[in-house]
Amino acid sequence: MKRVPRLKIETELGTEIQCSRCKDFWPADREFFDTARGKLHAWCKACYLSDEKVIQKAERWKESLRAARAARNQGGAHETVPARATEGRGANG
Ligand SMILES: [Zn+2]
Repeated sequence: MKRVPRLKIETELGTEIQCSRCKDFWPADREFFDTARGKLHAWCKACYLSDEKVIQKAERWKESLRAARAARNQGGAHETVPARATEGRGANG
């Protein structure tokens, strides 16, 4: 996968970035773009809200959460965390 740098323009109001879906420029701001781990999403908020797939995905995610919760309630067994889980961790991080 190749990363394409996002287009951005400087306006009198500040930096604006291009939404990769509607191709409009919006202020690079949390008002207009959702953020994930401090980074702005590729799509503007409006596109996210109007996209059917996102809504469907959210519904499926909610369903899987419900299923996981139900499974947890039914089965008495719960996972135990190995006491030495951190052992052997390399130069990761
Ligand atoms: Zn958009």
